Amino acid sequence: MINVPELFGSMVFSDKVMRERLPKEVYKSLTKTIERGKTIDPSIADCVASAMKEWAIEKGATHYTHWFQPLTGVTAEKHDSFISPVGSGSVIMEFSGKELIKGESDASSFPSGGLRATFEARGYTAWDPASFAFVKDGSLYIPTAFCSYTGESLDNKTPLLRSMDAVSEQALRILRLFGDDVSKRVCSTIGAEQEYFLVDKKLYNKRKDLIYTGRTLFGSPAPKGQEMDDHYYGTLKTRVSAFMHELEQTLWTLGIVAKTKHNEAAPSQHELAPVFVSSNLAVDQNVLMMDCMKKTAEKYGLVCLLHEKPFKGVNGSGKHNNWSLSTDTGKNLMNPGETPEENAQFMLILAATVKVVDKYADLLRLSVAYAANDHRLGGNEAPPAIVSIFVGDDLEAIITSIIDGTAYRKSKDGVMNLHVPSLPVFKKDNTDRNRTSPFAFTGNKFEFRMPGSSQNVATPNIVLNTALSEVLGEFADKLEKAKDFDSTVKKLIKDTLRAHSRVIFNGNGYSKEWEKEAERRGLLNLKKSVDAYACYTDKKNIELFERCGVMSRTEIQSRQEILYENYAKTVNIEALTMIQMSKRDYIPAIEKYLLSISSTAKNKLSVFPDIDISVEKSIISQLTVAVKDIFTITGELEAQLDKISHLPTACSKANGFCNEILPIMEKLRKSVDFAETLTDSSVWPVPSYGELTYYTE
Ligand code: ADP
Ligand code: MG
Repeated sequence: MINVPELFGSMVFSDKVMRERLPKEVYKSLTKTIERGKTIDPSIADCVASAMKEWAIEKGATHYTHWFQPLTGVTAEKHDSFISPVGSGSVIMEFSGKELIKGESDASSFPSGGLRATFEARGYTAWDPASFAFVKDGSLYIPTAFCSYTGESLDNKTPLLRSMDAVSEQALRILRLFGDDVSKRVCSTIGAEQEYFLVDKKLYNKRKDLIYTGRTLFGSPAPKGQEMDDHYYGTLKTRVSAFMHELEQTLWTLGIVAKTKHNEAAPSQHELAPVFVSSNLAVDQNVLMMDCMKKTAEKYGLVCLLHEKPFKGVNGSGKHNNWSLSTDTGKNLMNPGETPEENAQFMLILAATVKVVDKYADLLRLSVAYAANDHRLGGNEAPPAIVSIFVGDDLEAIITSIIDGTAYRKSKDGVMNLHVPSLPVFKKDNTDRNRTSPFAFTGNKFEFRMPGSSQNVATPNIVLNTALSEVLGEFADKLEKAKDFDSTVKKLIKDTLRAHSRVIFNGNGYSKEWEKEAERRGLLNLKKSVDAYACYTDKKNIELFERCGVMSRTEIQSRQEILYENYAKTVNIEALTMIQMSKRDYIPAIEKYLLSISSTAKNKLSVFPDIDISVEKSIISQLTVAVKDIFTITGELEAQLDKISHLPTACSKANGFCNEILPIMEKLRKSVDFAETLTDSSVWPVPSYGELTYYTE
């Protein structure tokens, strides 16, 4: 029997452990640091470090690492041992406060978007006490922020922490206006639902495209796709079930509340949702979870694919970002509540969020923009690239009545006067029906569904928190000056909703009509990531980040540069992989089959001169055309790649990859996939879609 409560968090230097192991004053000072988002008092660092080391050694650690999230989206870690020589050949285990708080590492191989001159390659990592340290694989992991020598952030955590501070500060001003004098901090929270695929490791090893790029670049569809929807919530296969079981336990020891697990819509696709926690911790837990998924899968002869679109024509994987704000006293600001006072406050937060989604739709789109996610957004399964907000029928009726100044007709209980809007109690099924919306109100939180499965969700949350802090700040400015608070609030809600209601859409986000309607409303529809990148440095966006103290102009410019670079690198690797597979795998395989079928025809004719060889002829002629196409298009791809490599900027390169290379890759794929349907499966060099998605027992 597994004792889950005992197991849970056993490898985490959690609040409970700190309380047990630190002197009272030190513990108090540290929790203050954590709760208020303040920097740590250096005088307690040695004491905390020593307690942490003792605890970690008991858990089997010999090393420690400053764990951080560079801008590539994955995590980075460099391990140092606790060992320190004391002469005469002996060692002691040491770990000082200085080593805990700050680390120095060679940053030259991490992306900096031009922020770091090559002669100044030092980067610094700084302990983030608000996220818990943990022991994994014999090392004490210390969550840290990562910045350049000159202090610019080079990671995802730093701006996220800044954005959390910003939104807390402004949300508190609003709470005070509504009479809350006790809350001391407002914390943004995230529950990130993680989708992923599992494929057999032996089959995976035979696919260079999966190995190099994380997705299949070729492959004709299996006879059975997901049309029966029989995989969704289906029973778990034995090996998959064993994998999930172990994964869950690992996550529990790391203090991650893995709660729901189930099969997803596509064959071989699954989902794991943890219970929400503060944004900062949630981001750390999510990257940790992705890492554990990959490592655990290996143990079961499986590979966990976190790519957004591993298989063409099969649902892709996203990471639904459930987001809300809670006070340190436990109140959720996105909960409509049942009393009119709370309702007015809720309506104000709702109006602010509607404004955020409308005014910063470009940044929200940007925050989920990278090559892999483009295969998903706008496809027939994921939200469209148009950013809109879904509020459900009840809320929409209320919003309409506020804007029009008419009475709100509550569905059951008749007409209500709406001087102060009184809301119906929200049932989840009232607000959770629309799965096609990119940004949906789901009862007491907003669910942003555009993020992709492999990404670090810090980016969208930086945008959400920062933009909301700005809007709440504007509201607070107005309300603090108001003579008549009630009427000013009402007017503010009404004016804001009226100005931004174009972004509210409750219909089918996948439909063609919505695309037209969205265009009529003047909403952005940035289908390609490269088109979204440009907006990062728009005046309004730089102003937003600078004003809220979340990112400087230099930091934004460097991040934009990195986005272009990463895009170009990703597609370049894909194109090179396709070229190699075409020339060295597909063309030889097709030629081999052509040879075998020609000799079959020849042998037949030598025995029966009058025999019908029309089947052989037809296959030979079709495959001859296909193999020539593959050869020609591969050459075209090589020539284009060469051209693009000479373009001067990261931006022009990324655009070249998007507009010139991707279409040629698509053309090449078409020819290869066609050839696959005609070629003897025993000579085909890679496992088929059917094998990859159905053959995991
Ligand atoms: P779904 O229908 O999308 O599966 P759930 O209620 O199961 O909805 O929640 C999905 C995710 O949302 C979970 O990770 C859950 O912890 C998270 N969540 C619930 N409440 C909040 C909140 N207030 N803030 C952030 N995330 C939340
Ligand atoms: Mg969901």
